[in-house]
This record gives sequence, structure tokens and C-alpha cells, in this order.
Amino acid sequence: MTKTQLTPFRFASLAPPADRRPLVISGPSGVGKGTLIQRLFKTHPETFTLSVSHTTRAPRPGEAHGVDYFYVTMAEFEELIAVDGFVEHAQFNSNRYGTSKATIEEQTTKGKVVVLDIEMEGVKQIRQSSIDARFVFIKPPSFEALETRLRGRGTEDENSITKRLNQAKKELEYADTPGVHDLIIVNDDLDVAYKQLEDYVYKPL
Ligand code: ADP
Ligand code: 5GP
Repeated sequence: MTKTQLTPFRFASLAPPADRRPLVISGPSGVGKGTLIQRLFKTHPETFTLSVSHTTRAPRPGEAHGVDYFYVTMAEFEELIAVDGFVEHAQFNSNRYGTSKATIEEQTTKGKVVVLDIEMEGVKQIRQSSIDARFVFIKPPSFEALETRLRGRGTEDENSITKRLNQAKKELEYADTPGVHDLIIVNDDLDVAYKQLEDYVYKPL
């Protein structure tokens, strides 16, 4: 037997998660939510699927319509609110973001665990909805580290950075409320944080 056969990929040895509930991941902008989620998807391509949100913000370089977000105008977003098309929606900085009912239905029918990357007003609304979900909050090791990451990503102008850091303070305060999240992970070392996320998602019922 070759060495490759003796040491299969790590993901091949993991049985699918016993807990199939949607996984809601929140945390301040720049903390590494997207990075952790992408790693979960890459490590377990058959197991998870992203709840693709609607947003009025412009796509960043490399982002694609229908993959990262559905990019819509403010009028289109408001039209979807008017027809009760959202499970939850919120304003973040100057833009609107929302999880459509159609997205949740479409992703759920794939039989995969649906992952939502949303901010705190959305978390509150999902908590009040009929959706039975698991809630994970990602924290930075320090506020300074958060700012460094947000700047280092190179996607935001100064105005957006300031707004996102102000919003981050609120997100961090909210996360201190007991009972809001099932798990809080400090994303200091990425490998350690990822392992904590994976262990939680795959833990037996
Ligand atoms: P979010 O989705 O929460 O806004 P991102 O996943 O885009 O955050 O991460 C923001 C930046 O921080 C990215 O440049 C990413 O590569 C970096 N990053 C993520 N996790 C870590 C970590 N543990 N240590 C250092 N940098 C990180
Ligand atoms: P970004 O502009 O960095 O992609 O996202 C900004 C914030 O909006 C992040 O905190 C992200 O989690 C949140 N967000 C993305 N999609 C949704 C959504 O559908 N609903 C809510 N409430 N927040 C969202």
C-alpha cells in the first residue's frame, strides 16, 4: 500500500455533522469570519453551503454575483422587504444586507448544512424566527489586531474602516450578553480557531 493510501485526507475520515441545524457565524468586520467559513467549505466541500445574502453594497474585486452575494439596488432590496421576502435584514454602515427566504429554502434542499455570515441585528432576528440554528461568534484577540486585519485586507476606504470599527464595538458588546451565542471563538491563531470551529460543528449530539 502506498503512503497516500495510508494517510487519507483529514476530511475523508470525518462523518457528516450529526447536528444539521443552520450555522450562524457573526463577529466584527475583519475578524476572519469569511476566512474561517471558506476553510470549512474547502475542507468539506460536500457538507456545507453558504446562505448567499442580498446586499446593496458594491462587489469587491474577485467577488461574484450569486456566489458571494446577490448585489441589488436599494429599490430592489426594498421591493423584497415589501413582499416579505427576507428571513432577516439589517443596515450595516450605509448598506442593506439580508437573508432571503428563497435562499434559505434553496440551500436547505441541497441537504447540506447551511452557513450564514451575518451581523448582530440579523442574529437577533434569526433568534426570534422559527429557524432553529446554532450561533457562533468570532472574536479578535484585540481591537488593535482587528483594525490591522481590516486595513490589511485592503478592501475598505478610510470612511468604511471607521464605520466598521465603530460597529465592531457594538458587536463585541452584544456578544458579551449571556446566552446569545452557543460558542465564542477567539481568532488569534487561524489554525487553532479553525479547529475549534470544526470540533464544535462536528461534535456528537
Ligand atoms: P471578515 O469576513 O470577518 O470580515 P476576513 O475573513 O475577510 O474577515 O478576514 C479579514 C483579514 O484578516 C483577511 O485579510 C484575512 O486574511 C485576515 N485574517 C483572518 N484570520 C486571521 C488570523 N487568525 N490572523 C491574522 N490574519 C487573519
Ligand atoms: P461585508 O460588507 O464585509 O461583506 O459584510 C458586512 C457585514 O454584514 C458583516 O458583518 C456580515 O456578516 C454582514 N452580513 C452579510 N450578509 C448579511 C445578511 O444577509 N444579513 C445580515 N444581517 N448581515 C449580513
